[in-house]
Amino acid sequence: MVEKVDGLIVGAGLAGLLAANTLQAAGKSVIVVEKARGVGGRLATWRLGPGRGDYGAQFFTVREPEFQKFVDEWREAGLAFEWTRGWATEGESGADDGFPRYAISGGMTAVAKHLAQNLTLHNQTKLGKINLVGNGWEAVAENGRSYQSRALLLTPPVPQSLALLNAGEVPLADADRAALEKIEYAPCLSGLFWFEGEVNLPEPGALQRPDAPVSFLADNQRKGISPEATIITAHANPMMSKIWYEAPIQELVGLFMRALRPFLGKNSTVKAHHIHRWRYALPTVIHPQRTLLAAGLPPLAFAGDAFNGPRVEGAALSGLAAAKALIEQL
Ligand SMILES: Cc1cc2nc3c(=O)[nH]c(=O)nc-3n(C[C@H](O)[C@H](O)[C@H](O)COP(=O)(O)OP(=O)(O)OC[C@H]3O[C@@H](n4cnc5c(N)ncnc54)[C@H](O)[C@@H]3O)c2cc1C
Repeated sequence: MVEKVDGLIVGAGLAGLLAANTLQAAGKSVIVVEKARGVGGRLATWRLGPGRGDYGAQFFTVREPEFQKFVDEWREAGLAFEWTRGWATEGESGADDGFPRYAISGGMTAVAKHLAQNLTLHNQTKLGKINLVGNGWEAVAENGRSYQSRALLLTPPVPQSLALLNAGEVPLADADRAALEKIEYAPCLSGLFWFEGEVNLPEPGALQRPDAPVSFLADNQRKGISPEATIITAHANPMMSKIWYEAPIQELVGLFMRALRPFLGKNSTVKAHHIHRWRYALPTVIHPQRTLLAAGLPPLAFAGDAFNGPRVEGAALSGLAAAKALIEQL
């Protein structure tokens, strides 16, 4: 069966979900397709034993009033809370730098679930190919589902979006292709560890040290999202993540445990762990505008954190900008 909609949104990360809500609020019919079982993309929370931890984005900041509006709503709804105003660095507790870092009650995926609740979402639906059909688009998923839409929004990491268009031989304008091919990302190896016994990270229970192989450590219990158990998040820095990307899980566990050892109490033991490899974790070369609207084709926009803001806020503002651009074309 072919589903027909005004706007097909690929990806249920923050950019896709905010764009879908914006298009829907403008009276457009919308379907969001997502390859994963859950929503959120790199807003990712994992249950480990009786607790949970964020293993993608750890926090978000707010620079623009447009994003502040959403964060205010999430705070009023009891979703967002201020976590800290400073990280510990090597050997020093975190000092207040006056700049709030927010987190989400229950973990980052909770805000994605909140944004998805009034949308038509087809999860576990990985698109494999996009074709240009007449004045619109046809998207074909690996599970056999297919979609026709007047407008298309692509929010996966850009190399993955380009692969979908290439599979259907979509003739992107040379300038657009060149701009998209410039975008680059760094990987990130991420680990979650459930500990029994003491883990003594310095105040506020999170340490940021960009030059160390394991550059970020955080205690999700002290963050406030895992009251039932001590779940520690550990991230390798971009260089280590690149070097160790294909290493077996046990070696990665060893890398993270060496970094954690100085903070463990005498009888601390690991009860379980979860290791995730993010191939496209953080954009390192970004596009200068919040969205790219393809030239000479039916409405096609690209959005996500690679478009003028390599972080949670950037993804949100990009999704909103792309939706507005598509609404004008529909
Ligand atoms: C380890 C890590 C730590 C981070 N820490 C922070 C932080 O502390 N603060 C901060 O501000 N930012 C942080 N970030 C960045 C932040 O998570 C991202 O900027 C933001 O979540 C990106 O949102 P997005 O919607 O652009 O993309 P994504 O969240 O990646 O969404 C894209 C979606 O598309 C889906 N998709 C891909 N291909 C297909 C397909 N073929 N068919 C269907 N669906 C598909 C994916 O499954 C995904 O859900 C971190 C990221 C990582 C990985």
